[in-house]
Amino acid sequence: MNLNLNNNEILLEYLINKTNMPFITLTKELKINEYNNAFEELLGSPEDLSNKLFEEIVGKINITSEKMFDENHSIKEINCIYRSKSNSTTHLQGSLIENEDEVIIIFRNFLIDESKIIREMSKMNSEMSTLARELTKKNNQLKNANEKITKLINTDFLTGVANRKYFFERLKEMISFKKREPSMSIGVIFTDIDFFKKFNDTYGHDIGDVVLIKFTEMLGQNIRQEDVLARIGGEEFCIVVQCTPKENYLFDISEKLRKSCGNIAIEGVDIKVTASFGATLYRDGEDIDTLMKRADSNMYMAKKNGRNQVVVI
Ligand code: GH3
Ligand code: MG
Ligand code: MG
Repeated sequence: MNLNLNNNEILLEYLINKTNMPFITLTKELKINEYNNAFEELLGSPEDLSNKLFEEIVGKINITSEKMFDENHSIKEINCIYRSKSNSTTHLQGSLIENEDEVIIIFRNFLIDESKIIREMSKMNSEMSTLARELTKKNNQLKNANEKITKLINTDFLTGVANRKYFFERLKEMISFKKREPSMSIGVIFTDIDFFKKFNDTYGHDIGDVVLIKFTEMLGQNIRQEDVLARIGGEEFCIVVQCTPKENYLFDISEKLRKSCGNIAIEGVDIKVTASFGATLYRDGEDIDTLMKRADSNMYMAKKNGRNQVVVI
């Protein structure tokens, strides 16, 4: 191979920029001329090295052997020890080629001292734990956001209780659970505020909203935590009551709710809040529609019979 180092710009360009080989050119006085990224990374030095003495920046060059390359050029095997500002040492090995006006060194092997490796590893470790901490934080934020979204899509905007969608999901779930646990009872209480339109017509929609909120609060205060209270329509609410072995429990709880309407007080509102209640127990084998239709028609019967009353069939 006949390598003309004076003219072979392409080869130099390739060595400088495209290889991972640390590469440096020096003046005859051994002042740093050009170097590539790989060399800069090897030194880990952000400062401009141009025109500085190689010996001062990197270290003393020790020639270990010399071989003639052609009549005019020789290749010298060299090594040197680079001591960084933080006092870590790197053992460098390479080849030095001298031509008419410059000196080129290509580094082949470099052994970074253990303390540097340990430092690098502990730096990486601490970066990894920072990343892991950030990941945990982000995961928690994501979890919280997901919980908020889930809550929003299951919640009635005005009253803050469950919405129709969530109500039917839970009821369906409870019915399939009952198939495995026949001893369990499920009761549904369907309630609708009597003449609710009157509140809107007399006091305005905003007061109508307050009635809905107060009514919801009253229902929530009188049921157990495991029961599911939902707003399923404008002024219509449903409660799924779990583990209620007897119909008279359903009647008692509905009566308690009906009577508690009397305690709802809204400033400036003279119309008393009353509601009609239709309650029923789930019957084995029936589907959700049949159950809900029965609760609805019980409520309708309560309306027909004069409102402000409970029907349980
Ligand atoms: P009934 O005793 O037969 O149930 O009579 P009602 O007046 O309660 O029933 P109706 O179905 O005639 O009227 C219900 C009204 O509820 C009509 C509707 O404008 C109102 N409404 C529905 N949703 C809301 C709401 O979010 N806020 C308010 N303020 N009013 C609502
Ligand atoms: Mg109504
Ligand atoms: Mg209604």
